[in-house]
Amino acid sequence: MNYQIEKKDLPALLQQWMQSAQVFAPVENGSFTKFKTLSDVDKLALDGPHNTRYPPKALFLPQSEVLLKYQDRDFAAITLDKQQQIVFGIRPCDASAVALLDTVFDDQDYPDPYWKTRREQIILVGLGCAEPAETCFCTTVGSGPFDKTGLDILATPLEDVYTLEAITEKGSRLLEGLPALANDYHEQMLATQNNALDYLNPVLETDGIKDKLYAIFESGYWQQVSQACLGCGVCTFLCPTCFCFDIVDETQRGERVRNWDTCMFRVYSQEASGHNPRPTRSERTRQRIMHKYAYWLDHIDQIGCTGCGRCVRYCPVGIDIREIIRDARAWREA
Ligand code: SF4
Ligand code: SF4
Repeated sequence: MNYQIEKKDLPALLQQWMQSAQVFAPVENGSFTKFKTLSDVDKLALDGPHNTRYPPKALFLPQSEVLLKYQDRDFAAITLDKQQQIVFGIRPCDASAVALLDTVFDDQDYPDPYWKTRREQIILVGLGCAEPAETCFCTTVGSGPFDKTGLDILATPLEDVYTLEAITEKGSRLLEGLPALANDYHEQMLATQNNALDYLNPVLETDGIKDKLYAIFESGYWQQVSQACLGCGVCTFLCPTCFCFDIVDETQRGERVRNWDTCMFRVYSQEASGHNPRPTRSERTRQRIMHKYAYWLDHIDQIGCTGCGRCVRYCPVGIDIREIIRDARAWREA
């Protein structure tokens, strides 16, 4: 069912939600925006040219998190707060990324209790992208500026109104009591969504990309595309679908901690013997691209990139994954 709320009434709605739930939303954070617990609705930052720099995956998989505490031979599990949480303003590319990561962390045989607990208590209220940024390419990878994957509610911004579509039961319950969507707004909503799609066309061609990447696995292509890479890891830390982590024992604190890690770091794949199966930038770049555009397809038949454009925007040397994919398709060994 579709509902509506006037933009001027949104702060009051969020304040109402804040009385019974912890609400996260994009807020100003220096020169960028970031998802934080909302305490002051005046700090809401919904109208930026693109999504938050820091990906909302951190709400489910914190950059650093204590898994358990121990002393001598005893250990204590970490109990996560059971509290209703609402994420307002997550973009469809980032919600799709959460759904992709569910396939990793909410595995039927080996579910991750930390991820699962957070996921179960969070309601995702998406904000569709009426004016996608130049770096967005979600339609290329099977998503879209108003894609509903992973969302409980999808909001569409019109001039003075947000339309709110309840997608799940959780979403329906949250919207109970709001006015139903008027017919005029329904038409405007469809027009807004179609305009955004037109803006993103034409899409980058990805047909056959997996086979092509396997075919050029041993080629000189990777050396060429990785030459400028600094190995800083920004592209992977900011990526909403990257999930590599390392687990370390902080023995002085008696804590076992999970930290984000990245395959773009040289030591990531270094083994205890000193051998490193990916010793060069070329192999590490290849791993990053193969994982997203070949291995994810092998595992769940989906590309592991949602086209959010963060790696394009924030790579300090301008390496653009869209060019890597485009050029890979055209690559012929000299
Ligand atoms: S952000 Fe750019 S320079 Fe840094 S690791 Fe990624 S591709 Fe390399
Ligand atoms: S690979 Fe780049 S564009 Fe794709 S989801 Fe990750 S950060 Fe976004």
